[in-house]
Amino acid sequence: MSVADLSNGERAVALYASDMPDRYRNRRGDLDLLTFWVLQGAARLGLDELYRSAAYAYGYRLLWAAGWATPEQDAAHARRFPSASRLDRAERLAAVVTCRSTMTSEARKRGLRPLVDGACDCAGTGWAAFDMGDDTQAFQACPGHNPDGRTVLPAGVTA
Ligand SMILES: [Zn+2]
Repeated sequence: MSVADLSNGERAVALYASDMPDRYRNRRGDLDLLTFWVLQGAARLGLDELYRSAAYAYGYRLLWAAGWATPEQDAAHARRFPSASRLDRAERLAAVVTCRSTMTSEARKRGLRPLVDGACDCAGTGWAAFDMGDDTQAFQACPGHNPDGRTVLPAGVTA
C-alpha cells in the first residue's frame, strides 16, 4: 500500500492513529515523516477500520457543518476521536500530504462516501421532514445520508 491509495480523510485518520506527537508542527522537508506516520496509522487500524472511521468522520463533518448533528452523533464522534485537537491537527497535516502527493481515483471516490454513526434526524431515509410553521411539512435532504439529494423522496412528497 502507498499513501496514493488513501483518501485525504483516510490520511487524517491514519495520522490520528499513528505515533505522531500531539504537539507535532510540520516543517519543510518533513513529508517523508508524515508519509511514514500515515502508513503506520493505516497498518495499525487495518484498511477496513480506516475506511470506516474516515467515512464516519466525513459524515459527521457534513452533519455538524449543516447543524444537523444529533447528541447521539456527537457522542459517537467523540468516542471515535476522543481528542478533537489531535483530529484537527491530523486533518491539517493530511492536507499538507495531499497537496504534495498523488491520489488514485478509487481513493478519491471512496473519500466522498460518508457514513453516519448514531440516530439521525432522517432515520436513515435520506430525508427529514420539518414543519413549515403553518402545519405543512417540507422535506430536506440529510447532509450525512443523502449529501447529493439524489436519494428518492418518500412516496407522495416533494422537496
Ligand atoms: Zn441522515
